[in-house]
Amino acid sequence: MTTTLLPTEQLINELQSFGVRLADSKVGAASRRGGAGPSDHKAVTINGRTVMVPIHTAASFESPYRSLAPDADGSSIIERDGVTVGRISFPNQPRFYALQTFDGIPYSKIAVLHSKDVLATTVLQTCIRYQSRTKTCQFCAIGQSLAAGRTIAHKSPEQLAEVARAAVLLDGVKHMVMTTGTPNATDRGAAVLCESAFAVKAAVDLPIQAQCEPPDSDRWFERMKASGIDTLGMHIEAVTPAIRERIMPGKASVPLERYMAAFEAAVPVFGWGQVSTYILAGLGDTREALLEMCSQLIARGVYPFVVPFVPISGTPMEDHPTPSPLFMHEVLYPLSRMLKAAGMSSGTAKAGCGKCGACSALSSYEKA
Ligand code: SF4
Repeated sequence: MTTTLLPTEQLINELQSFGVRLADSKVGAASRRGGAGPSDHKAVTINGRTVMVPIHTAASFESPYRSLAPDADGSSIIERDGVTVGRISFPNQPRFYALQTFDGIPYSKIAVLHSKDVLATTVLQTCIRYQSRTKTCQFCAIGQSLAAGRTIAHKSPEQLAEVARAAVLLDGVKHMVMTTGTPNATDRGAAVLCESAFAVKAAVDLPIQAQCEPPDSDRWFERMKASGIDTLGMHIEAVTPAIRERIMPGKASVPLERYMAAFEAAVPVFGWGQVSTYILAGLGDTREALLEMCSQLIARGVYPFVVPFVPISGTPMEDHPTPSPLFMHEVLYPLSRMLKAAGMSSGTAKAGCGKCGACSALSSYEKA
């Protein structure tokens, strides 16, 4: 068999765009289906970097990349058209998945492992924007895992604290991501994130990122910080107003101007580079629009975490294409230079998606 190994960041871009056909989809930690945010992924490790790669999407079933069966040390060859392009391995299933709470809920319905060392939970699995298909974000599957019984609607502070402690003790989890569906048009989830973080911090010393829409009052940022939240994510997802209105008709009612004002209020509270936003490349924003927005965000001290859009089965956007590896390269390479010039990086974030970095090749570009 011929071998032409691809550079790490290129292989990550290729696999995140095309997905991969696995010889054995049960190897490693369980894959993720449905839920809030990115999904239909599996964690794989490429040259020491753990990233999320689509394996359940329609595109991934047609991917030119396939992994061979794992060898004795658990790693698999990745090939394209008979040419070996790299090797991947798989983080183990976490031990905390075998446990259940005192009230009989499996820990995996409370929180899950993302990448190799991140504990992730959706505190409220319901959202005011998901109740109507005219308002819901077209890419979101927050209700799917709930309908399938893979999670529960509201994780209590006590349940989150119990699972977080076990995940640290048994699996060495290093930080936690708490996201939430939006419960109302006032605090937009900040209150439930505060009570959840307070309980987790009382149980275990674990850096926490909370993620929500900008609350109605900037005073929530001080409260969030005081409750133990270390970093904050407020996710704009798309940067062009017309695209936001088309793809996120409910969420776009909070305009970009409000996000910018909220970023300016939150950065002094959480610190330079400790507030981030998730941007999905591939929804229709041009390369120039993405980079212009990233430049504005970096100038405000916000880490722009740009990830390739991955369509989730069962959502209105399930057939929307992923961005090409070339498009991602043309965004992530200059973005990594902009971050470097500003002294901001994935590595300096205390917690959260920017620190984890598994949904994008961005942190690999930063290191390249
Ligand atoms: S970047 Fe965020 S959403 Fe992606 S795997 Fe890491 S913690 Fe999860």
